[in-house]
Amino acid sequence: MNERHDARVRVEGVDKRYETKQGPVQALRDITFDVDPGEFVCIVGPSGCGKTTLFRIIAGLEDATSGSVYLNGTAVTEPSPDMGVVFQEYHLFPWRTVRGNAAFGLEKQGVPAAERRERVDHLVDLVGLEGFGDSYPKALSGGMKQRVAIARALAVDPDLLLMDEPFGAVDAQTKEMLQDELLDIWQETGKTILFVTHDVEEAVKLSDRVIVMAKEPGRVRETVDIDLPRPRSRADPEFGDYYEHVLDRIRN
Ligand code: ADP
Ligand code: MG
Repeated sequence: MNERHDARVRVEGVDKRYETKQGPVQALRDITFDVDPGEFVCIVGPSGCGKTTLFRIIAGLEDATSGSVYLNGTAVTEPSPDMGVVFQEYHLFPWRTVRGNAAFGLEKQGVPAAERRERVDHLVDLVGLEGFGDSYPKALSGGMKQRVAIARALAVDPDLLLMDEPFGAVDAQTKEMLQDELLDIWQETGKTILFVTHDVEEAVKLSDRVIVMAKEPGRVRETVDIDLPRPRSRADPEFGDYYEHVLDRIRN
């Protein structure tokens, strides 16, 4: 396994303009921030503020109009195995089993079958899918599908885990369980996580730091350090203070 888990991300002056039939749309304006190795950072903001656009640019799936993204000092110009990417809509291969989905990146990298099997078994357990390795996605709930997507993203042992509203489509109870498991995985692996959400409570619960975005144009309004011990509880008045503060920054 790759022993380096120290991913540093720098987003520098990123602008994104879409040319549409209705005219230009300034989706992002002058986005600049850093994510330190091992940090858990959430990007939060209202619908349409450019979160997915920013996520896609960081992931190398889309070009910025200007500005750059660096991963460990190297400009990101295309998708990289150093980043594991999880989308809201799972994007699983329906014709592959849980194990087959998780193994995808390892096959692409030419990892030998025996080692692949060992790593995939470990991952399937890590994400809480023991016993479902041979199931197909259509037999799984939304929460389980997202566990498969997380296993697939972790399989090649990327330095950075990049997630776009990964728990946006599951029920509240499942969401809470997945959040706790993601925190366990983060603590266990020491990965850097950049996590996009519109859910303020989720951001305060998970992250070391919340980057609050505003819309039209999409921009960074404020960065809030969440200085709370883990595990965190909504019942903690300090949690409530952070929640109210971030919500207030999104609204104004
Ligand atoms: P969020 O994920 O925060 O909801 P998006 O990044 O999806 O926001 O969208 C930001 C803005 O950019 C929105 O106004 C959206 O309509 C626009 N946008 C996103 N993708 C495209 C595209 N491919 N073409 C034109 N406009 C787009
Ligand atoms: Mg989005």
